[in-house]
This record gives sequence, C-alpha cells and structure tokens, in this order.
Amino acid sequence: MMNSLPPVKGDRIICELPLYFTRDAAVHTKDGFNITVREACQGQKTGLFPHGDLWLVPTMLNVAKIIVVGDVGVGKTCLINRFCKDTFDKTYKATIGVDFEMERFEVLGVPFNLQLWDTAGQERFRCIASTYYRGAQAIIVVFDLSNYNSLDNAREWLEDAMRDNDPSSVLLFLVGTKKDLSHPDQLAQMEQEAVKLSEEIRAEYWAVSALSGDSVRDFFLRVASLTFEATVLSELERNNSRQVGDIVKISNNCNENYKKRQSNCCR
Ligand code: GDP
Ligand code: MG
Repeated sequence: MMNSLPPVKGDRIICELPLYFTRDAAVHTKDGFNITVREACQGQKTGLFPHGDLWLVPTMLNVAKIIVVGDVGVGKTCLINRFCKDTFDKTYKATIGVDFEMERFEVLGVPFNLQLWDTAGQERFRCIASTYYRGAQAIIVVFDLSNYNSLDNAREWLEDAMRDNDPSSVLLFLVGTKKDLSHPDQLAQMEQEAVKLSEEIRAEYWAVSALSGDSVRDFFLRVASLTFEATVLSELERNNSRQVGDIVKISNNCNENYKKRQSNCCR
C-alpha cells in the first residue's frame, strides 16, 4: 500500500537531526541521531540489521500520535495549518471536538507519519478529549507568548494530557505562539518563565509565529525527528527481547547489497 502513495515532499525528508530551539530547554542536545538508530535505519532500507543479520520487523514504519493542547485561542489550529498547509487564516474558527492531520515524513530513509491531533481546548470538551489523549508519543502544549495566563495554564493542560499516557515514553514540547505580536521586552520575560517551566516539566521549548511562519517548520521537523528516534529505539528494545523464533533470518546474498549501500547517506 505504501508504494501507491506519492513520494514524500522534499522538505519532509530528514537526513540530519534538526537543532533544538534553546540549549536551556531541549529534549536532548546531541548534534546527531543516535548511532544505533542510524544503523537500524540503514539496515531497514537494505533489508538487513547490521548486527547479526536480523530482519528488523517493519512495525517500526510507524504512525506516531501527537496531541496538541492548550487554552482556546492560543493558536493551536493556526500552528498546525501553517505547517501542514502553509496557510494562515486570520478569521477565528473554533475547533469542534478533535481533528487530526496526517503528515508524511521520511527520516533516515524510513517512511514515518505524524498524526497531529488538534483538540478544542474548551472546558466542556475536556472529558471527551481525554479519550483522545491515550497512546500519544508526543504532547505539544501550546501557549500564547502575549498572554501570561495561557502559560500559567500550560501545566494544567500537560497534567490532563499525561493522565492517559506513560510519562517515561512521551516526549513533551512547550510552544509559545504569536511571537510576532510580542514586544521584545515582554517576549524576553515570557521566554524566561517558559524555559523555567520547560526545565521543570522536562519539555523542549520553542517560540514560533504561525502568522509569519517563523520557526514553525523547524519545530515540526524536530518533533518528527525526536519522535522517530524514540520510536525506533523502543522498537529495537522490543525486538531484542523477542524470542529468537519470532525473528526472521534473511538469506546471505543480501549481505553484499547492504555492504555496498552502507557508505551512502540516508538516500
Ligand atoms: P486555537 O483555539 O488554539 O486553535 O487558536 P487558533 O489557531 O484558532 O487561533 C486563535 C486566534 O489567534 C486567531 O484569530 C488567529 O488569527 C490568531 N493567531 C494564531 N496564531 C497567530 C500568530 O502566530 N500570530 C498572530 N498575530 N495571531 C495568531
Ligand atoms: Mg483550534
């Protein structure tokens, strides 16, 4: 089925780990993808796992569920629309219930999809929303850089979203929007608070503008990359703990193929 899809757009092809926004609040500050992940992806492409000629089960060709939460009007829908459709609509349309967009990526040569869940934010949808929170690989908590209350509420949104998820396996992002609206002094003060909160909740901090597009693409590429990295690592862990009988050995002649391609980049 994958083969019938059009190719992934050029700007969704990730070969190198995109940089964090600020060193003070990053999921990690390494400047490249985890080496085990790189090797596994190389093996995935060639049909070989580099250590021991084992077939890496294709379940790692995953769809990651990413939920986007935060107060009404902070700019969640605009942020998603800027990235997915490269548009910005000034007229406000409340999101009803929950919506999701699917974005296709290729990371280190491996297809990877992000399902971006846009929640309504209204108090009355909170109980409905909790069923959608379940099974998220990443949570994006959004606040408005020009509205202190929305940052104050961010912690509560995070707690809500985490209730149905495993804290050890979810990546967190704290994103300040509407950067274009803030006066530099106000921005600096808000950022200081936001970085403090990010450190506390172990989230990666980003400041963006959906109106100008500032940092929006960099942010989502970073989300896709870190989520991919975490997904592959946990898949490898599961793989390692499987019974030998579950793992399919592949024939030796592919070995040559693997060695030939090993030196290439991710394409
Ligand atoms: P949501 O309720 O969190 O989904 O918020 P929306 O995405 O619908 O945005 C709420 C309002 O904020 C809309 O009127 C948008 O035009 C405005 N908005 C969103 N993002 C930005 C931004 O980056 N800059 C500016 N100036 N306005 C924004
Ligand atoms: Mg919305």
